[in-house]
Amino acid sequence: MLLNLSVLKDNPGGSIPFEVVLDLHELAFGGCCPATEPVTAVGEVRNTAGVYVLSGRVNTTLHGPCDRCARDVVKPVEFPLHAVLVEEISNDDGEDPWYFLLEDGCADLDDIVTTTFVLSMDSKFLCKEDCKGLCCRCGKDLNDGPCGCQPDADPRLAVLQQLLKK
Ligand SMILES: [Zn+2]
Ligand SMILES: [Zn+2]
Repeated sequence: MLLNLSVLKDNPGGSIPFEVVLDLHELAFGGCCPATEPVTAVGEVRNTAGVYVLSGRVNTTLHGPCDRCARDVVKPVEFPLHAVLVEEISNDDGEDPWYFLLEDGCADLDDIVTTTFVLSMDSKFLCKEDCKGLCCRCGKDLNDGPCGCQPDADPRLAVLQQLLKK
């Protein structure tokens, strides 16, 4: 959705509210697409001393397998939305993801919300922060308790034991 900001041009302190709902179910993160539900962004663009500042929140509920234990996870998330809208990007701020170009005086909300969403996602999708994952030998879910596998003996200790035997 394009938000026309021309009414803000000569209106310092003025603001325009917005609400967009995006379908981002094709966005892939590490081989899965967790954004199966609509992604909603609500906020406003304010003319702050001649600078257009966009602020708001992005909400959705993510679905997917936990990266460690592969359990199905349903996880509501909310990310802050913050962007500075500029007529042109100078060399200094071109690297900053929070600067967005206006197109004919309009803010491209789809682009801003999608970029914010991607940059806000955790690199790991976990059922809980301290998920213990699966045992790499027997495959048991270690969140349900320890398995019977013995930890690998330290190879340096084995060498030491050989030496002590002599
Ligand atoms: Zn997990
Ligand atoms: Zn095990």
